[in-house]
Amino acid sequence: MEKATSTSLFFLCVFLVFLAFCSIPGAKSQELGKAVLLWGSEHPSICPGHGFGSDLLIVYVDLGAPEDEEEFSYEAGSENGPEHWGDLNPEWSLCKNGTMQSPIDLTHKRVEVAPGLGRLKRSYKPATAAVKNRGHDIMLKWIGDAGSIHIDGVEYHLRQCHWHSPSEHSINGRRFEMEVHLVHQSRENKTAVLGIMYKRGRPDPFLSELMEPIEDIARTKDEETEVGVANPWHIKLGSRKYYRYLGSLTTPPCHQNVLWTITRKVLLTLRTAYVRTVSMEQVRMLREAVHDDAEKNARPLQEINKREIRFYRPQTLDGRPRR
Ligand SMILES: [Zn+2]
Repeated sequence: MEKATSTSLFFLCVFLVFLAFCSIPGAKSQELGKAVLLWGSEHPSICPGHGFGSDLLIVYVDLGAPEDEEEFSYEAGSENGPEHWGDLNPEWSLCKNGTMQSPIDLTHKRVEVAPGLGRLKRSYKPATAAVKNRGHDIMLKWIGDAGSIHIDGVEYHLRQCHWHSPSEHSINGRRFEMEVHLVHQSRENKTAVLGIMYKRGRPDPFLSELMEPIEDIARTKDEETEVGVANPWHIKLGSRKYYRYLGSLTTPPCHQNVLWTITRKVLLTLRTAYVRTVSMEQVRMLREAVHDDAEKNARPLQEINKREIRFYRPQTLDGRPRR
């Protein structure tokens, strides 16, 4: 009889501790840190009213992991490096098995000139924005309506931009100092990304506007700070010429069917690519602000497979390519 009572007391205590844990508002997100960022918002919780799930397991996993460990890294050969992204999470399997992955080399051998693509139709507008440190990159996300881009009759709304160094895409095997990605989404949740390459040189004026707030969130994780109004028109394309192909997100979960547009300007007389510039100080500032301690945040090149790479360049009235 005594034994039965103490067993009941034990289970009562366990139940009370469980209820106390669940009743603390925000306890999960504050206490569990990264594990909840990875799983908590997407997965059901064990707490009443939140469905049923595996948060207790997550508590254990999180306590055992070093605090600064990233969910994925850019370190070649490391356990969570690019070649293993597809094994780290079942939802990231496309990183390994996908046949339309990004980035790729925009090699001239594969490029088809496609005048029918037409000029890039952008209708951006200045809107309130915030910079956020995502650990592996710095993102500027627009809180207000920053306008959109139109491709094949679909309107894609500008959501955020972020920076990679060195560039993720390459042109004829050449990588550049930096690449900015402007991420757009349609009402049907389709993604279109506009990529702009930068070579080393004078500071980029748009990044210069953001230096201070980026330094404010340096070495924090998932912290964000409002920057007031940011004007997407200040991110200059550098060219009306662009490449278009179908690829993927370049970070896990590597979702496919992302419509890529990569701008490019070529000075035909010099046979060299002319791109926009960024200063080394700015590249360093972006790399040091994140806390993954990696020297770069560019995914290795992926197989093109059978994909088409189309190229648009404006033409003169008589149909000749405009320089
Ligand atoms: Zn990107």
